[in-house]
Amino acid sequence: MDEFLKNYQEFCKKVAKKFDDPEKEIMTWGLGISGEAGDVAGCIKKTISHKDSQTSGIKENLGDTLWYIAAICNFYDWNLEDIINENTEKLKKRYSEGVFTEKSACKRERIDWNEKK
Ligand SMILES: [Mg+2]
Repeated sequence: MDEFLKNYQEFCKKVAKKFDDPEKEIMTWGLGISGEAGDVAGCIKKTISHKDSQTSGIKENLGDTLWYIAAICNFYDWNLEDIINENTEKLKKRYSEGVFTEKSACKRERIDWNEKK
């Protein structure tokens, strides 16, 4: 595992609030990531729609979003590097021509996350 990402995940684990109830913990991380991603969107909206540059807020809230990604990975005992690698492999398959094309966009498989196996 990449040491930088491993150290980052360990740091996040160290500073994260401790919970007795695992459902409360993952709910907190799930709501937290949504809130921070919403802050990213809000800063982009203000930058574009209100002509009020919030690019430093976009950057800061991307970091906050990443922190929640690490917290969720820690909760499930996943390595952030594995998540990045799996996503990279998925995108390489989807964009086999190396760039976004209409054809590659159509290659997306619809996944029903609730589908019972
Ligand atoms: Mg924030």
